[in-house]
Amino acid sequence: MSGPNYAYSPFVRKGVYAREWTDLRQRCAVEALVMISAIFLSVAVAFVLAHFGYSEKWAFCALLLCMPAGIWASFRVRAFRCPRCERRYMSWAARGIPSKCHHCGLGYLEGSESKGD
Ligand SMILES: [Zn+2]
Repeated sequence: MSGPNYAYSPFVRKGVYAREWTDLRQRCAVEALVMISAIFLSVAVAFVLAHFGYSEKWAFCALLLCMPAGIWASFRVRAFRCPRCERRYMSWAARGIPSKCHHCGLGYLEGSESKGD
């Protein structure tokens, strides 16, 4: 199966669950991007505040404002459904991506030819 839906991914090319794993990787990439942007944004705000003579501590508010985006991105990663059993792949408390499905034991990246990258 090779559709235009995941042809742009540099990681996953072929496999039964290739598209699903690409989706999970993209969710993780969005999460990382949101977190990194939040840090850069608060540093930028701190610089601007310092430049105009205000206390940098208000830059913390910028970080707080980014929190809903961070929670949303993190939720999306945790809400990812297992390609085989269609139940949630990881528990809500999971830190990082587990090596196999919480319910059916499907290994991470199993069913995609990029396994072992
Ligand atoms: Zn499963």
